[in-house]
This record gives sequence, C-alpha cells and structure tokens, in this order.
Amino acid sequence: MAAGNSKAVGGILEAARARYIARNPRSAALLAQACSLLPGGNTRTVLFYEPFPLYMDGGEGCRLWDVDQHRYVDFLGEYTAGIYGHSHPVIRKAVRGALERGISLSSHTTGEVRLAQLICQRFASIELIRFANSGTEANLMAITSAIAFTQRSRVMVFAGAYHGSVLTFGAGNTPTNAPYEFILGKYNDTDSVRALIRQSAQTLAAILVEPMLGAGGCIPGDPVFLRMLAQEAHACGAMLIFDEIQTSRLSVSGRQGLLGIKPDLTTLGKYFGGGLSFGAFGGRADLMSQFDPRVAAPIGHAGTFNNNALSMAAGAAGLAEVLTPEALDRLNRCGDELRISLNELFVMLRARLCATGLGSIMNLHVDAEDAATRRDIQELLFLELLERGFYIAPRGLIALSLPVTGRETAQFLEAVRDILATYPQELTADG
Ligand code: PMP
Repeated sequence: MAAGNSKAVGGILEAARARYIARNPRSAALLAQACSLLPGGNTRTVLFYEPFPLYMDGGEGCRLWDVDQHRYVDFLGEYTAGIYGHSHPVIRKAVRGALERGISLSSHTTGEVRLAQLICQRFASIELIRFANSGTEANLMAITSAIAFTQRSRVMVFAGAYHGSVLTFGAGNTPTNAPYEFILGKYNDTDSVRALIRQSAQTLAAILVEPMLGAGGCIPGDPVFLRMLAQEAHACGAMLIFDEIQTSRLSVSGRQGLLGIKPDLTTLGKYFGGGLSFGAFGGRADLMSQFDPRVAAPIGHAGTFNNNALSMAAGAAGLAEVLTPEALDRLNRCGDELRISLNELFVMLRARLCATGLGSIMNLHVDAEDAATRRDIQELLFLELLERGFYIAPRGLIALSLPVTGRETAQFLEAVRDILATYPQELTADG
C-alpha cells in the first residue's frame, strides 16, 4: 500500500484514505509517538499498513473497538489465533484460576499434562508432544527433530508458504530465514514435486507443508498432492511435517483428519493456547523420544515459557469446554456458506474479486491484470469495509471466530454488495 496509485482506482482510493485519516486521529497520533520507540512504530510486521494502522482498544465476542471509538465486527480473528472470540468466559475463568495459583512455579505442572492429553486425544498422529512459545518455534523444532532423526540435511518447503518469521517463502527463500538447506517446490504441482523428492531422496530430512497455504492466500492443498507427499516421504525415509497452525481448526483432528493422512510430525500454535502465546510440535513416538531427557544424548529444548501456566490453562479449558466437534463444525459450515455466497455474488455482479479457502478461513483476491491495480483494489476494499464496520486483514484474509453467527455474515455480504454497487466501474468487469 505504498504511494503512487494505479490509474484505475487512484482517485477513489485517495478519497477513501483521506476519510480514513480524518476518522482516526488518535491512531495516527499513537503511531507517531511509537515511531520514536519502535522501528516504524511496529513490533509485528503483519499489522502495519499505510497510511497508519488502527490501534484497537478492546474487544468482546466478535466485536472490536478502536481508540477513536469506532466499532467493528471482527472478521480477522487474530489471523486465525482468535477462534474463541474476545474475552470468552471459559478462557477468562481458566486464566483467572491460573493466576490465583501462581504463574511461574519453576517446575513441571499439571497444566501441561492436561493440555497434552487433550491434544493427543484429538490427533491420532501425535503420540508425543512438546510445547513452545510460538508457531515459528514449533516449526524450527520440528525441522530440527527431523534432521537429527534422519541424519540428513535438506528440507523441502513450498513457494508461497509461511511457517513463521524466519521460515518465510512468499518470495522464495529469503536471507533472514533460518539457515537450513531448503529445497523449494511448487505447491500443488504433484508431478514436478514428486520428481524433486526423488532427485533428493538420499539427502531429504523433511518435507514441511501447510495443508492449505495460509498467508499465501488460503490456497487449499490438493488432496492428491498431499497424499503424494506422504507416500514419497515414506518411500525415501524423509519426515513429513504438516504445519497445521492454521488448518487444525478445520476439524477436531485438523485437515489431516479430514484427508486421512498421518504425517510423521505436526506443528500447532495459535488458538491451542486459548489465545495466549503458544506453539507445539508432536508426532511419532520414536522421533519425539529424541527429546526424552532420560535417553542417552537427548536433544535439548529449553524455553522458560514452554509450559507457561496461563497458556496451558487457557488452552486446556478451551479444548475441553468450548471447541467441541459440533462447535467446530458449525463454525466451518458458517465459513463455507459465506465463501460460497461471496463467490456467487461476485459472479452475479461480474466483480473482479474471488474468495478462496476452506471452512472458517478464507481470502478475498482481486482479479486485475497488473500488480498495482490489484494492490489498490485490495486496499480500497479494506478501507471501505472498515468504514462499514468490518475488520479484515489488509491482504484480504478473513478468519471467523466462534461468536460470529449468520447475522454477522449476512451483514458482511450486504457490506460487500454495497461496496460493489458504489464502485461498479472500478470493481466489476463491466467497468
Ligand atoms: N505457520 C503458519 C501456517 C502460520 O499461519 C503461522 C502464523 N501466521 C506460523 C506458522 C507462525 O506462528 P507464530 O506467529 O505463532 O510464530
């Protein structure tokens, strides 16, 4: 969202930005203040956008409000981590209970046993599990386990994938990535990837894959492609790692459960900590036993907050009391219906938009010839949705949370319809 607008949308985007700036003086002032303390005022890259990001002040259920007193329906759901919505009573009670028992006990606690049990019960492939502080760390540890176990060095990943801040493949491998020997495959290209795996069969330690590209635009993995990865990994002795940090919410046992695929390792994060900081990696007992402190020469995996009391308590309460198969089912059906309705609307109105995704996670994409127009229309859509009281990611990501009902999705559809009616020339093929 840099300056320099495309001809197609320039004027109306400028006007939408001007209204945004006028409506949000407190957010603007907070960013200006933050700039002398944090680089660009930012400590989490994805949250920054031009002309300045909103500062949210609070939330409840599926509602959010910002420091300038605007209310939004939260359709972003903390980039999929906020599945419970804001301040869910069960999560609040669990966190309060943990606080009252002391939050730093310098010891093993019952909390980690309970959460481990609840997760292992859900995922047949997870025989043993370890906790960490983020999804990034979970993926780093999963890769480390595979390299140590296979005594091989190479790791296959896919263009467009995101596995954390130092495991980012949106534009191929990047210099800030962790220094593993990566091989980059083309997502969903079954034949070329099969050939690539066979070429590297002797040196491949792991294949790390998202069952749906998340940050890469909610592109579902083709079941044929994902099954091929499982077969080829098995045939050559490489470890298949499913990064289900986003897709785990598609059923009680994630996308692997829906497809009947059993990866060697799975990484989890986000909402499994009840909305607090969290990561986990788990899988085959022989692989995970490398971390057993009782074996000769175990792999160390320290981390002051690996079993932090608040995440363990909130995560366990959420799984045990809220995130039932029925609740997940309802949420994913709600998402499927929204995505289908959006695409029907786009086809009917010949909009230059489409929605991809699975269940409760989806991404709005702009269909335009040049990148500048795509970017500008995406920004326009984002700003117009904010004006109508809906908060999504600037890149078009939508992640529904449990408090969202058919009422909110119907209102969202109306808002999108209204935006398309306001800018037929810019947003539809008839323009
Ligand atoms: N993998 C996937 C698929 C993710 O979506 C994310 C977070 N967006 C991560 C890994 C990294 O998780 P974290 O932000 O907790 O490090």
